[in-house]
Amino acid sequence: MNLTISITHKLVGCGLLVGILGTSAFAASPASFEDFRFPREASLTKDGYPTPLSGQPITKTPVIAKKKGITLKKYPALLDKVFINHLHLDHCGGIFPLFDAMGWGRNTPLRVWGPSGTTPELGTAAFTENVRKAAEWHVQSKRHVLPTGGTTITTTEIDSSKFSPENPRQLVYNENDVKIYAFPVVHCIEGSLGYRLEWKGLSFVYTADSEPSTFEAEQAKGADIFIHEVLPSPEDFAVHSKLPLELAKNVINEHTVPEELGLVFSIAKPGIGVGSHYILGDTNIDNAFKKLRTTYDGPVMLAHDLSVINVTPEQIVIRQAKTSMLAPVPNPPKLKGIDMNPGKPSDSKTPAWLSKTRIVK
Ligand SMILES: [Zn+2]
Ligand SMILES: [Zn+2]
Repeated sequence: MNLTISITHKLVGCGLLVGILGTSAFAASPASFEDFRFPREASLTKDGYPTPLSGQPITKTPVIAKKKGITLKKYPALLDKVFINHLHLDHCGGIFPLFDAMGWGRNTPLRVWGPSGTTPELGTAAFTENVRKAAEWHVQSKRHVLPTGGTTITTTEIDSSKFSPENPRQLVYNENDVKIYAFPVVHCIEGSLGYRLEWKGLSFVYTADSEPSTFEAEQAKGADIFIHEVLPSPEDFAVHSKLPLELAKNVINEHTVPEELGLVFSIAKPGIGVGSHYILGDTNIDNAFKKLRTTYDGPVMLAHDLSVINVTPEQIVIRQAKTSMLAPVPNPPKLKGIDMNPGKPSDSKTPAWLSKTRIVK
């Protein structure tokens, strides 16, 4: 009985995936030669936290024992479900590489959940419809050579207008003992959601971008893992982003700074509180933890690319995946009833005069 949270910005932005759960862990820092080596050697900050992209999770509590006599387990993954928190592109723009799965991995429709907007064009259905439209050349040009079962998107919109103090969450997914609830968070305009996943007594909450609120903290109460965004102070953000301070203040006002994150965690009291979306650099980690520690003293980590959290009834284990960028694609699972035959060719052809010049071995 395991729940694996893998954190990546590379593949799916901030989509939340059942089996593998993706979130935005910004790992930007001023470009230097060091930044292009991945992973770097493990090294520690002045206060003893591992530095980003060093192959270590950024926390001093990588293992939280809930019981004695523990055994770690392995986790299979097939990515076909995406739960979008909100439609900022840093949280959903990575959908294209996930959608592009013709013939390998996923040969079934991509299933997407996400918020409705206050108007149809602000909703997730409009977003996915436009994603599919934007992929028309991609699909037509490949469909005669590869299976087409993965070239559709099915979308479930979560009606944002139905939330209220009396109806704080909606059950949006209930399969294979997994229940996922959506609840609204404060971020920019209507249509930002948090999700709470419950599975066999284990729980995971992910709020993506949100201003701190007691409402979201209540929804996250007692979760094994609570991933919440965190950004630096407007002053630090202005330095990093090169924005004028006034504009940096506008941005940070719609997000959460470390002291505020601590206040949210102190209400929710998760097994592990995870800060994500932070602008990580070797020099600002200590400052982030220092500020967080003024308002919260429970287990906490800053997530970044390839952070992995394993949860069992006995323990929570935080690790940092080490991966090869050149690793081969893993074998897809054997699923029954999947049509692996290619579809019919597109009417659009390469001009004959150009095709004739193809070199034939
Ligand atoms: Zn956002
Ligand atoms: Zn964001």
